[in-house]
Amino acid sequence: MLATENSIMEENKKSLNFIEVIVEKDLEEGKNGGRIQTRFPPEPNGYLHIGHAKAICIDFGIAQKYGGVCNLRFDDTNPVKEDMEYVDSIMEDIQWLGFQWGNVYYASDYFQQLWNFAIQLIREGKAYVDEQSAEDIARQKGTPTQPGTDSPYRNRPIEESLELFHRMNSGEIPEGKMVLRAKIDMASSNMHFRDPIIYRVIHIPHHRTGTTWKAYPMYDFAHGQSDYFEGVTHSLCTLEFVVHRPLYDWFIDQLANSDYRPHQYEFNRLSLTYTVMSKRKLLQLVQEKLVTGWDDPRMPTLTGMRRRGYTPEGIRRFIDKIGYTKYDGINDVSLLEHAVREDLNARAMRVSGVLDPVKLVLTNYPEGQTEEMEAINNPEDESMGSRPVKFSRELWIERDDFMEEAPKKYFRLTPGNEVRLKHAYIVKCTGCKKNEQGNVTEVYAEYDPQTKSGMPESNRKVKGTIHWVSVPHSTDAEVRLYDRLFMVEDPSAEKEKDFKQLLNPESLIVKQGCKVEEYLKAAQPLDRFQFQRIGYFNVDSDSTDGRLVFNRTVALKDSWKKQSNS
Ligand code: ATP
Ligand code: MG
Repeated sequence: MLATENSIMEENKKSLNFIEVIVEKDLEEGKNGGRIQTRFPPEPNGYLHIGHAKAICIDFGIAQKYGGVCNLRFDDTNPVKEDMEYVDSIMEDIQWLGFQWGNVYYASDYFQQLWNFAIQLIREGKAYVDEQSAEDIARQKGTPTQPGTDSPYRNRPIEESLELFHRMNSGEIPEGKMVLRAKIDMASSNMHFRDPIIYRVIHIPHHRTGTTWKAYPMYDFAHGQSDYFEGVTHSLCTLEFVVHRPLYDWFIDQLANSDYRPHQYEFNRLSLTYTVMSKRKLLQLVQEKLVTGWDDPRMPTLTGMRRRGYTPEGIRRFIDKIGYTKYDGINDVSLLEHAVREDLNARAMRVSGVLDPVKLVLTNYPEGQTEEMEAINNPEDESMGSRPVKFSRELWIERDDFMEEAPKKYFRLTPGNEVRLKHAYIVKCTGCKKNEQGNVTEVYAEYDPQTKSGMPESNRKVKGTIHWVSVPHSTDAEVRLYDRLFMVEDPSAEKEKDFKQLLNPESLIVKQGCKVEEYLKAAQPLDRFQFQRIGYFNVDSDSTDGRLVFNRTVALKDSWKKQSNS
């Protein structure tokens, strides 16, 4: 009895990720009075991407799972690249993913508190104003095995640093002429302790505080303290911050006047094959119009994925599958596509769309006759029911579902061969008509009235089933087919090449004159469907009344072939 209970508990423990293990231990020990508080801290300098989704899922997920709160904090300490447009998009994307924050905070709201803390450090002899150039400061840093060199300003009088620090903020000191540095240890084995820069001068107005400040705190001087001001207990971030953690703790030790401490924990960053995730690079693609915008369906941004038809559930399923570890790596984008496909399979309505149409004429079907066939909306979900679909003598079928001369294993339309028209009849191909260039313009077949789907005699089996759209009951559509944005698995690894030269020239193929069933006339932007036999599609926001545009979200199967190394 006990043994099984133990093994169940063991099982539970095993399925926890390492962050959950830490949190459960902290709860057991009653740390922070049993309080769990996390934050998601984006810098509003770009749109959120799938990597951020990984951070969002753990930041909000931990709070949700353990009855805590996750706040949204905009890490807006660098006015150069930040903008309100990004603030708005970040909020929209988090909610779309399915999460809700407790409070919204801005690091810029702490500028006064951070300033006061910097003054405190100067007064305590733990910070000084350095007037050297950035290059000189970098040169003096030393290497991991060699200690750094003291700045000639390191031991200047406290009063002098105080006065200069005020001047750094008054607007009279040009950018780059002075910085404030923490005075810690120029010989530390951790390079981040070698008198890190904590304030610099920036004259560009801030998107929230305008021109009030000219001296701005660096990330390391803002992040941990912001966590502390807010009462964060578990500050989760990516592995590149491991080396910053001692400094994070050092600043908080200088600041804290109680036992409470926020703690930083690091997990592996998400990288995906065939794309880039750096906001700087994504911004370049947008600015140089190599994509249509942040919401281009080929972008790894959440707004791009939403437009493309990815579901928040599919994205969360993917994040869940890859999990959280302490080792960096690169995940195959086909895993993401697989998760999205699985989710859409469960919920997308099946419809008919013909991307490359050719007309099929049923020569023995009465002219002018129309029938209603019953189409099942989703075989995976009975509750979605069925709908009537019109059938007539002339149908659109895919051009490659007919071959005049076909190989043995071709089970679609070829003279003499029978196929089932989905939800309708078995038809036997009798031939085709061609134009002067030899291209097929019409395909002919005869239907067997005894084989209507659902009729008792309809059990006769044929090897192939194809989809169709009744010509008088169809509507035109533009269909956009997307492929990998880059031709190589890891564009960032190709150091000698500009990443933009690695873009896949066939990442977007636009097809005009596609035919879809008339039911889709009423479809709204973002509505998702499975085009039977082809893939998952959604209605693009470029659609207007009378002009339908679809995006292929993902094909039914993974068809990407690795580019052979040329
Ligand atoms: P960039 O360096 O491209 O600007 P960033 O990491 O600075 O990106 P932030 O807006 O600062 O972007 O990130 C907010 C949060 O999201 C941080 O906690 C960061 O660790 C996390 N994050 C960003 N990119 C990823 C990623 N690829 N995988 C997991 N978490 C990420
Ligand atoms: Mg950042």
